[in-house]
Parts: sequence; structure tokens; C-alpha cells
Amino acid sequence: MAEYKGILICGEVREGKITTITRELITTGRKLSDDLNQRLSILLIGENIQEAAKEAVFFGVDVVYTVDDIPFAESPPEQYLALVSNIFQKAAPSIVLFGQADMGRDIAPRLAARLGASICMDCVELAIDPETRSLLQSKPVYGGNAVAVWASDDVQPQIVTMRPRAAAPAEPDPSREGEILPVAVKIDESVIKSILIETVKEEVKGIRLDEAKVIVAGGGGIDGKEGFELLKELAQILGGTIGITRVPCDEGWMPAGLEIGQTGHVVNPDLYVAVGISGAPQHLAGCSGSKCLVAINKNPEAHIFEEADFGIVGDYREALPPLIEKCKALKK
Ligand SMILES: Cc1cc2nc3c(=O)[nH]c(=O)nc-3n(C[C@H](O)[C@H](O)[C@H](O)COP(=O)(O)OP(=O)(O)OC[C@H]3O[C@@H](n4cnc5c(N)ncnc54)[C@H](O)[C@@H]3O)c2cc1C
Repeated sequence: MAEYKGILICGEVREGKITTITRELITTGRKLSDDLNQRLSILLIGENIQEAAKEAVFFGVDVVYTVDDIPFAESPPEQYLALVSNIFQKAAPSIVLFGQADMGRDIAPRLAARLGASICMDCVELAIDPETRSLLQSKPVYGGNAVAVWASDDVQPQIVTMRPRAAAPAEPDPSREGEILPVAVKIDESVIKSILIETVKEEVKGIRLDEAKVIVAGGGGIDGKEGFELLKELAQILGGTIGITRVPCDEGWMPAGLEIGQTGHVVNPDLYVAVGISGAPQHLAGCSGSKCLVAINKNPEAHIFEEADFGIVGDYREALPPLIEKCKALKK
């Protein structure tokens, strides 16, 4: 078996900055590197990413591989996979980390298949077993009702995707030093099977769902677009943002990009207020990592109350206004 050593993060740069999920991966990767006493490297792809590369070193990375002049967002998956595979041959890491976001979901399984590696997706915690030195990979299972810990001792390398907000974002230390290695990779154009026809930019006003610390989410019980005004008011006071279940999306009350769940965003906020939401497993799969779940539902038998830390039984139109007033008063 080939000798694999160290940890490689497949990072993301947006508008010249290291993304939050990449900073979270650096926190996790740094801890694993220190425990294994091995190097932490990162791959950054994009245009004019030299500043981002220095930033990565300050955040805690030892070696930064940069592939410049390829717009990250426009890179077709086959091209990105070819680049990652190329850097993989150079770095030969035993662990490869991706964020559980669009790029990670797409590329990580392809890379695992190509390398014959193990893969564990949507992890919320990684650790090194002090005795066996195995990588312990924790991920929610059964719709978030349990956490399973996996280890793949006989397979190298090991590929992992990490859920957003599973770790705190790394903070910069400008005194840190590291190596920045620009890499020129020639891609065989014939491997590219998909082409980007158009990019439609979704306007994200305020806080991104996957970075939100507070989410006020509405479901079928909101019964129309107008009801969401109350939820927005509460979200604003709490410094949070709005999420939805499948129903408001299907009914056209709110944009589809706000959907949380199995086929939507997976979120990990400190506080999740579920209003008029039944608690279907497909929805809970996206929010069961919330640190505190508060449910407001007029049906005392609703399944969401079994998952909630706190609950209010009642019509949201009556429950929310006093809650909003109380929050306003507490903020004064
Ligand atoms: C393959 C698959 C994937 C799916 N993926 C997702 C996903 O990613 N995300 C997702 O959300 N769903 C998903 N679904 C749909 C999911 O199964 C549920 O149908 C959906 O989550 C139900 O949404 P809800 O709880 O908002 O609506 P409902 O089931 O309509 O529940 C509404 C709740 O509001 C309460 N209510 C009604 N009026 C009021 C009021 N005035 N005040 C307070 N409470 C009130 C009711 O008691 C009820 O509990 C998926 C389904 C499938 C089959």
C-alpha cells in the first residue's frame, strides 16, 4: 500500500476570501494534524488567490497549493476533479477534507471512487483515537436521531465531508508561517463532459442559512405568504434569518432556496424556532443539529414536540406577537 501522510483540505475562495466553511475545515484539520503530528495542506482554486493563500497560512495551514486563473465557481466538476486528483498525487495525504456544500457533495464521492478510498459524508465531528490512531468520523444517522462513529482502518486514504458549523471558524494569526506552492496543471480537455451554460445569481439578503446562528423557520401551518412577516420580525430581533419546510416552497409562498431538510439546506444554528412545522423526518434531517429547538404548533400531538427542547402549543398568530414584544423588551 502506498504511503499516505498528512491532511489535505479542498478549500473554497469566494470574492477573494476564504469561505467560512473552509475556515471551519481548517480548525478541524489543524487539530487532526497536531494530534497526528503531520502537515496540514490546502488546495485553493480561483482567480487572484494569492492574498487568500496568505490568509490560509494565518488561519493555520502549513502548505497551500494554489491553482490560479481558474474561476472556482465556473470550474466544471470533471476539471475540478482532475485538479484535485493531481494535487492529491503531489501531497499524498491520508485524510482529505471537503465541506458538505455544493462542491464537496459533488467532488468528494467522485474522488473516493477514483482513488478507491473510503468516504464518510456529512460528518459533525472528527477525532484521532489516541490508542489506535484511527480517524473517528461522527455523523448523524436515522434522520438525526442518533450519531454514529465510523472508522475505516484498512482503507487509505480517507475522504470526509464536514457539515457547515460543525467547528468554529479558524481565527487568523499573522505571525504564522507556511509554504505557498503555485501549481500549473494541464487538464486534458476531453475529460470535461459538462459545460456551464448560465449562472443565475440568487440574491441572498442578510445572513446565509448555513452560517446563521438563529433561524426562524415556517411550515405549512403559516398558511400563506403574509404570515411570514411575523416570522421575519422575530428573526430580525434575534439577529437571525428565515428558513422554510417543503410546503411554503411548493405553495410558492417563499423562495425554494430557503428550504431546510433532506433535499434542502442542512443547518446547525444555536437556536432553531420551528413555527407551524409538523416535524417530518425529511425536514428534521436538515435541522436536527440545532443546539436548541423551540417549536410552536397548535397541535399538541405534533411530532416536532418530541424533538423540541421547548415548545409552545398554540396558534402562531397568537403566540408570536407576545414573544416578539418580550424579545424586544429584553434587548433594550
Ligand atoms: C423524498 C422526500 C424529500 C423531502 N425533503 C424535504 C425537505 O428537504 N424539507 C422539508 O421540509 N420537507 C421535505 N419533504 C416533505 C416532508 O415529508 C413533509 O411533507 C414536510 O416537511 C411537511 O412540512 P410541514 O411540517 O411544514 O407541513 P405540514 O405537514 O402541513 O404541517 C403543518 C403543521 O403546522 C401546524 N399548524 C397548522 N396551523 C397552525 C397555526 N395556525 N399555528 C401553529 N401551528 C399550526 C399543524 O399542526 C402541522 O403540524 C420531503 C419529502 C420527500 C418524500
